[in-house]
Amino acid sequence: MKIQFLGGAREVGRSCVLVETRSDRVLFDYGVKLSEGQQPLYPGKINGTLDGIILSHAHLDHSGHVPAWFANSKTLLFATQPTVDLANLLWADSLKIAEYEDYHAPYLKGHINKTNKNTYIIPHYKKEIPIADESMLTFFDAGHIPGSAMCYLNTNEKNLLYTGDINFGETNLLKPAEIPDKPVDVMMVESTYAGKEHPKREKTEKTFAESVKSHFETGGHPLIASFAIGRAQEIMMIFKKYNIDAPIYLDGMAQKATMAIQQSPKFVKDSKALNKAVQDVTFVKSQKMRQEIIKEPGLIITTAGMLQGGPILYYLLELNNNPLAKLFLTGYQVEGTNGRKILNDEPVEIDEVELPLKIAWEHYDLSAHADWPQLQKLVKKMNPEILFCMHGQEANCELFANWAKEELGIDAYAPMKNESFSF
Ligand SMILES: [Zn+2]
Ligand SMILES: [Zn+2]
Repeated sequence: MKIQFLGGAREVGRSCVLVETRSDRVLFDYGVKLSEGQQPLYPGKINGTLDGIILSHAHLDHSGHVPAWFANSKTLLFATQPTVDLANLLWADSLKIAEYEDYHAPYLKGHINKTNKNTYIIPHYKKEIPIADESMLTFFDAGHIPGSAMCYLNTNEKNLLYTGDINFGETNLLKPAEIPDKPVDVMMVESTYAGKEHPKREKTEKTFAESVKSHFETGGHPLIASFAIGRAQEIMMIFKKYNIDAPIYLDGMAQKATMAIQQSPKFVKDSKALNKAVQDVTFVKSQKMRQEIIKEPGLIITTAGMLQGGPILYYLLELNNNPLAKLFLTGYQVEGTNGRKILNDEPVEIDEVELPLKIAWEHYDLSAHADWPQLQKLVKKMNPEILFCMHGQEANCELFANWAKEELGIDAYAPMKNESFSF
């Protein structure tokens, strides 16, 4: 068996792992690495044919390059229904961004259609599906976003577990990830938070809700920057749980993502609770409506979560000088993004113009990734022969691999991009 890391190696972005046995050839994920105003970075080149692409979840760092495969070749895509629905939203949006930013997109709309025609929907978790001559795939709930999966591949050589992005903490929207009850020889694990422990989730959530509430009650405009998938729905559910009696608005791609998630009720923890939370929320449908709603106090949940585009930039420009407004960041802010610039007290950049930030802000990391104790526990439990630590900054991947080697005696690596391993 040969495993090659074509992306997501010592980085967060363009996750892609090629697995080859004597009979089968499959990919785990085919993502892109986004960079502001520029063409994304793509995984390493794949020569030859594939028996299948296994998609762990919809986020672009895992799914973003999938239609590009179908632009030149054929294969089958294996994913859950919410993953397919949400990835379609993101793929269509990526095409729009490429056009707006004026760079070459590696696929066209027709290739998204071709992808959909060649997609096999995995109906639910824990169902074993034959995907190639000698390989069986089983998805386990990864607890990260709706439809997200840990991918277990049973081959005639080794048994593999590719975690994708995982979260073992329970949220309002999702159940925690489930630990696969299968023997694992080779494991590929995400390392986003290796070495870092999350603060207590419930406390973060409570402080966030109370701060938004009290800010609104003093006549303010809480502007909540949110990721479209998972986070926006979680925030609506938090506001419902804490009985925040205020007009709540949802803007940007979070609207379509919410509707897509509502269409797959079995992939959320409590679909009734989600629907109730969404009922209280007004969807912002036009620019005129945006201009109206900021005249009165209200809660605005909008994309993009890292302030890279989306309606949030309109609100930010309008509310920046308003002493009654406050910006709430609700997730991890990647290096180089406007969100990270805010955390670093640097001016943000909107359409290549610098904007010094006057608006007050607070940051809450309502993380959807496993933290260090959870990652350690998972590796101990699965106890693989070989461990590959990926999907993290270089130092985090190395730290994780060193820990597994020294503490558990596992043959562990932080692979380099394009590095391959045979066993
Ligand atoms: Zn993800
Ligand atoms: Zn990811």
